[in-house]
Amino acid sequence: MVKKRILVLGGGFAGVDCTRKLEHYFQSNYDVEITLVSDDNFLLFTPMLPQVASGTIMPRHIVMPLRSLCEKARIYESAVRDIDPIGKHVTLEGTPEKRGVRIHYDYLIIALGSETNFFGLKNVEKHSFTMKTLADALSLRNRIIDMLEQAENEINEEIKQRLLTFVVVGGGFAGIETAGEINDFLHDALNYYHNIKTDDINVVIIEATSGILPGFNKKLIEYAHNKLKKNGVKILLDTVVSDFDGGNVTINKSTNTTSMKSETIISSHTLVWAAGITPVEIIKNSVFKTKKGQIITNEFLEVENFSGIFAIGDCSRFSDTINKNYPPTAQLAEAHAKLAAYNIKQMINGNDKKKFEYNWKGQSAIIGKRSGIADVMGGKITGFLAWLIWINYYLSKMPNFEKRLRVWLDWNIDLFFRRDISRYGFKRNILKEYQELDEVDDVW
Ligand SMILES: Cc1cc2nc3c(=O)[nH]c(=O)nc-3n(C[C@H](O)[C@H](O)[C@H](O)COP(=O)(O)OP(=O)(O)OC[C@H]3O[C@@H](n4cnc5c(N)ncnc54)[C@H](O)[C@@H]3O)c2cc1C
Repeated sequence: MVKKRILVLGGGFAGVDCTRKLEHYFQSNYDVEITLVSDDNFLLFTPMLPQVASGTIMPRHIVMPLRSLCEKARIYESAVRDIDPIGKHVTLEGTPEKRGVRIHYDYLIIALGSETNFFGLKNVEKHSFTMKTLADALSLRNRIIDMLEQAENEINEEIKQRLLTFVVVGGGFAGIETAGEINDFLHDALNYYHNIKTDDINVVIIEATSGILPGFNKKLIEYAHNKLKKNGVKILLDTVVSDFDGGNVTINKSTNTTSMKSETIISSHTLVWAAGITPVEIIKNSVFKTKKGQIITNEFLEVENFSGIFAIGDCSRFSDTINKNYPPTAQLAEAHAKLAAYNIKQMINGNDKKKFEYNWKGQSAIIGKRSGIADVMGGKITGFLAWLIWINYYLSKMPNFEKRLRVWLDWNIDLFFRRDISRYGFKRNILKEYQELDEVDDVW
């Protein structure tokens, strides 16, 4: 019998879950070959990234090697360069050290996720921090510590204020959780910085729409909003960022219902852009039919006009005739993954495929100071209990016991000790960052 070749592209939540499910279905079937391709050799647990940025969790603890999660599949750590659905093959990037490879398939699962969407704002893209990768979280942590170190000895109040102003753009999961974590870290770190007062710290969230955390119940949103404000975070709604030159953030009102000037400047060196995602270039440039960059699928998660090719997770959406589009989340990616694997099993066995049905399990978000909001089984929970639900839910989602234990220990250790303010040994664009403080001052 000719072997059936299943190829999964992307080692995120969708790709890994799908590969694991396929391994389970075909564990003793040697006529099925499963291959997983991803440009990193690990699964990154993104919901915990903001806590890496604040130093609560060690970076290594939120990544799990693909080889430990998917033991049957052949794994390629490589970037996908091209998908050819007519010739039924995928080409992997070649570099001087890495041989370019062409992989043929019978069934393909595209789970390439998304990248940050800057909406064409080139300056923002150039100067801002993002929150998508482990390197992003570490760069941001380093930046926050750098700003504290500079501000501690700064005598010019204007410069000090700019150093201690941190702007987070985007009121979704990533933006809110990042702002909450930054705020906690900054306040806790003040034990070490005696010349910086609580009032000197300024964390601002900028959101283009009229509310934060879309998709949550109104009461929960109100709680999160008020709690963040109480913790000292400013929230500017109906506001968009139009420019950032590395020292000044230009903002505009997205509606003209208020009296705010058409353009206002916030002085800050640190802008975190968590305002939107867009699928990766390779998908936008593919022959597949897309909307907002996402591949359009039918109810079986199969790509329109290409039988045997499935698109799942952040990079996919249903066609407009199917009223089943939900915000891109890890939970949705997981549900997609399960169905795509099941439908491939059905196709290989000559059985009927199943349509997608989403069994939404609720959602939760953390907002800083061991507080959160949770919407579970109809219950609306806030505060410490919601924070506990969040940590337990996400711990249970970590597929690796060792990492689960390490994260749990990190959280507990954090309860009893001061923040670690040592900066990791790399700096981002060091010359550019210190342009303003380039002149040498006589300190003594
Ligand atoms: C900071 C942050 C916090 C979040 N918090 C939550 C939360 O609390 N709850 C929640 O449900 N969701 C949350 N999300 C969203 C969640 O992470 C995504 O919805 C989920 O990761 C989508 O899974 P995916 O597999 O589709 O994409 P991804 O997880 O992005 O995986 C895509 C994979 O494809 C790989 N890849 C991309 N391009 C290529 C290429 N050319 N070649 C090879 N490999 C490639 C990537 O390296 C990656 O491994 C958060 C996201 C962020 C960034």
